[in-house]
Formats: sequence, C-alpha cells, structure tokens
Amino acid sequence: MPLRSWLKNREVDLSNAKILVVDDQPVNIQAVYSLLSNDYIVLAATSGEEALDLVATSYPDLILMDVVMPGLSGLETCQKLKAIEETSDIPVIFITANESPDEENKCWSSGGIDFISKPVNPTTLKNRVKSHLMLKYQKDMLLKMVYIDGLTGVFNRRYLDEHLIRQIHLARRSAKDSSVLLIDIDLFKQFNDRYGHVEGDAILKKVAESIQSHGLKRMSDFVVRYGGEEFVIVLPETNTAGAEKVAERIREEIQSLNIVHLDSELGVLTISIGISGCLFEGADTVSVLEAADKKLYEAKISGRNKVCV
Ligand code: GH3
Ligand code: MG
Ligand code: MG
Repeated sequence: MPLRSWLKNREVDLSNAKILVVDDQPVNIQAVYSLLSNDYIVLAATSGEEALDLVATSYPDLILMDVVMPGLSGLETCQKLKAIEETSDIPVIFITANESPDEENKCWSSGGIDFISKPVNPTTLKNRVKSHLMLKYQKDMLLKMVYIDGLTGVFNRRYLDEHLIRQIHLARRSAKDSSVLLIDIDLFKQFNDRYGHVEGDAILKKVAESIQSHGLKRMSDFVVRYGGEEFVIVLPETNTAGAEKVAERIREEIQSLNIVHLDSELGVLTISIGISGCLFEGADTVSVLEAADKKLYEAKISGRNKVCV
C-alpha cells in the first residue's frame, strides 16, 4: 500500500485524550461534558485559577476555555499557560459569546488556537475538538520520533544538544547553578557477555525507568540516553550539593533493584555517577559534559558504584 494511503487508513485512538473544560457556569461545563465524554476523558475547572492548578498536575491535550469569567479571565489564563514552557504547547480553543472582530483578535493574540461561538453547535464543537486533537497527536508523534530514544523512551542526545546549552545560558543569567549528572552502568560489557544482548537491552530499559521515576522530581528536570549504557540528567536550578543528593538516591535505587550481575563486586548491577555544575568560566555543552565525565572517571577508578562531584 502506498505510504499516504496507509497513513490515511491508520486508525488513531484518541479515547485517552484529556480535555479540560474551563467555564464559571457549571451548566455550560455539563453541556460540553455530555457532548464529549463518550469519546474522551473530560476534566473541568470553574475558574482560571483552578484551571492553572489542574493543568500543572494533569497536563490535558486540549483546553476549551470560556472567555468571560470572574477572577482570571479566559484570555489571561491562556496567556499564563503560554508563558510557561511546560504548558505552552497545550492548544486552547476559546468558547465565546462575543463575535466582534476585536474579541476574536484578542483570542488569537492571547495564544488561542481557535474559537467556537456560543451557543455552541454540537457538531462544530465535536469536529473542531477532533481535528485539533489530531493535530496535537501528530505533532507529539513527530517530536517523539525526533527527540525520544527508541529503546528506553527517555530523551535522546539530539534533545540534550538542543536543551543543555539553553540551560547553561539560563543558569548564567540567573546566577543560579544547574547540574548535570553523567551516569554509566558499571561493567556492562561483562553483563552483556554473560547474559546476552537481549537481556542487556531489557536492563537498559529498567535502569532508564528507575532513573526517570527516582531521579526527576521537578517538571523541568530531564533524563537523556547519552550513549549505549550512559545517561545524562539535567537538573535546572539545582546546585551540585543538591545534585549529589539526587545522584546518591539514584545510585542506591539501582543497586536495590537487585539485578543479578555475577561479575560485579556486590553481585548486583550498579552505576557510577559524575556531576558537574554549569556556572564555571567558559561553560558550554561540551565542557560541562567533559567535566562530568572527569568526575565519572574518578568514580570508576575509585571502585565504581560511586558518586563524584
Ligand atoms: P565500566 O564500568 O568501566 O563502565 O565498564 P563497561 O563494561 O560498562 O564499559 P564499556 O564502556 O567498556 O562498555 C560498555 C558496554 O555497554 C559495551 C556494550 O557491551 C554495552 N552496550 C552499549 N550499548 C548497548 C545497548 O544498546 N544494548 C546492550 N545490550 N548493550 C550495550
Ligand atoms: Mg560507558
Ligand atoms: Mg559502563
């Protein structure tokens, strides 16, 4: 089948898509809920403030936003979402009773992706929601293919190259240090030789998952598969003392996974970690990673299963 037809016929499952409806009138929320809840997961907030809290914890795929609300208006809420990096790409569709060009322009300039007029035509609402969810899905897919490591599901090196330099600049501007952790699995060649590559791959996934769930506490932290059995964690606005605590926690966590590795001193798989800050003279992506690598080397020669800062 030609690629284009294959893509066209591919069913995309949007039933897990989360839609946040923001409206100060519960009756309006109810109306939208009854139209969409059969096809998607629908969340609700009755004010802009509540919406901001909810977005931070449950990251919806799409927001349907009333324009006029007491407290934060829909336009203000949207502007706030667009100003925060983590929430800036969530599409916002305004639902507005006022169809003047001036009102429409305000919706666009506050960062809305579309608007629907009140009273809502159910078919229009359903179709607009579906096409914007589809666009979001395709965009997310593309970003995944570009920035995500296929084996472990964490970010890849391209992502690191593009994002670490920004982090270094931010650290310099705010004079608040950020930290970079370089993690390397101990004696992984022996592991592969003894247990095979397939088992090795499975362990890489497990280690990545563990690093992801125990190493990252803030939304802005991120983990990257840097090379074969090497991972990098970037901790924005975290000094090296704080990073050392995070690293120790991860090191202990990996050891306590109790993955049998008979060639290792403890009989289980362990990791070593080198840490560098980002505020030294002339810091850039290369020199920060080199500094972390030096520390990693120290951890290796001093016996492995260690953290060096
Ligand atoms: P050290 O404690 O000094 O880090 O020893 P090591 O054996 O881990 O170090 P080295 O860098 O010499 O070897 C890395 C090994 O990791 C080589 C290869 O067997 C394994 N490896 C690298 N990438 C992959 C991968 O994608 N899958 C699997 N299964 N193994 C990998
Ligand atoms: Mg290595
Ligand atoms: Mg290694």
